[in-house]
Amino acid sequence: MSRVLEDNAAEEFRALVVDDEPLVAKSLAELLLSLGVTSARVASTGSEALEKIANEDFDVVFCDLHMPGMDGVETMRQLAGQRRDTAIVVLSGRDEKVLRTVGELGRRRGLNVVATLAKPITLKQLTQALSTVRTGISERPPRPLSDLSEQALWLALETSELRVHYQPQLRLADGELHGLEALVRWEHPDHGLVLPDRFVPLAEATGLIEPLTDFVAGQAVTDCGKFHAQGMPISVSVNLSAKTLRRLDLPDRLEQEVARAQLAPEHVTLEMTESGVTADIESLLDISARLRLKGFRLSIDDFGTGSSSMTQLQRLPFTDLKIDRAFVRDACTDSESHALVTSSVELARTLQLKVVAEGIETADTWNLLASLGVDLGQGNHMAPAMPIEAVLPWLSRWRSRVA
Ligand code: C2E
Ligand code: MG
Ligand code: MG
Repeated sequence: MSRVLEDNAAEEFRALVVDDEPLVAKSLAELLLSLGVTSARVASTGSEALEKIANEDFDVVFCDLHMPGMDGVETMRQLAGQRRDTAIVVLSGRDEKVLRTVGELGRRRGLNVVATLAKPITLKQLTQALSTVRTGISERPPRPLSDLSEQALWLALETSELRVHYQPQLRLADGELHGLEALVRWEHPDHGLVLPDRFVPLAEATGLIEPLTDFVAGQAVTDCGKFHAQGMPISVSVNLSAKTLRRLDLPDRLEQEVARAQLAPEHVTLEMTESGVTADIESLLDISARLRLKGFRLSIDDFGTGSSSMTQLQRLPFTDLKIDRAFVRDACTDSESHALVTSSVELARTLQLKVVAEGIETADTWNLLASLGVDLGQGNHMAPAMPIEAVLPWLSRWRSRVA
């Protein structure tokens, strides 16, 4: 049996198993020990678990959902109030949908939920969950850094600490490069490269989103123009915070930008998140209609995650539909995600929209999406977002790989 934690054998790795069925708890604890966990303790109720967690350090807690008295949801709620860093794996022998909901709930409460596993748990799932804990890669939503203030972000804009990275978008039919999505990063002097989820909401809340958008769009259009000048007619996508779209002159400004870079507007796609497509609908209709009149492409980003996707699709003149990475990631393994992807593709076809999938992490996912007729894909399987100077070296590696 492989010991996933063997490389770090000298380091302690402590697990707590919370399950009201003693046999289940014991066998899971034994399995964990066989996988290299240094100590595996057991608690049979939620309150016993909370007491143990308050007094001892655990690297990971496996928590069953169905327990008499304090169930798993309540245990996790209480835990969110005290220890938030311990990795949590939620277990259930019953409804998988409930399991997923509880995973999402835990993450929203700031808990480090690394996996939700339906019983009986396979060795592979357990191994995967443990290595996730080890590498620290989890689905936890990032917490805002406390010193990322409006003032600091304003300064970052003033002192050019913001960077635009690019993630390649490829044609799934032949693997050719179609374009690049511009994704903003903050090169923070203390925190290193900070991802947008940590500061775009702050920018949206303070109005700094306007200079941020100007910066990203300006840079993206300039860089795309340079590729064209070198004989590479690729496209570029820029994210727009639709809920802050109030400036009616945005289409005119973008038109000036593309003219300056000698780029046709068809090569620029503006991606709008549907959850953001809410406030100030009049401005939004005005801006999106004029963007299209000027020839820019318009994409509905993160499709499937908002509450009113259909309304937005009917209301705004989108040309592209971008399926959210949450569905893409699980499309090969989860029948519901598969169904959501399939029906999004069908919908896009009916509405004559180009279909883009983000978050392709495996060759299997690529193959599935290609067979469904998805036009474009991006994801870590092909390339993560990278600085502009890394794009051409990546492209030659990519081409030699697919050749
Ligand atoms: P998005 O527009 O949906 O961008 C795709 C996100 O998915 C990017 O995260 C990208 O790095 C990530 N991604 C792509 N492929 C994979 C994959 O295979 N696996 C995983 N796990 N992730 C993948 P990033 O760069 O952190 O951006 C997050 C969000 O921040 C973006 O989501 C977008 O909504 C927002 N954002 C980024 N740049 C800007 C900007 O300039 N302006 C505005 N308003 N929002 C931006
Ligand atoms: Mg996007
Ligand atoms: Mg997206």
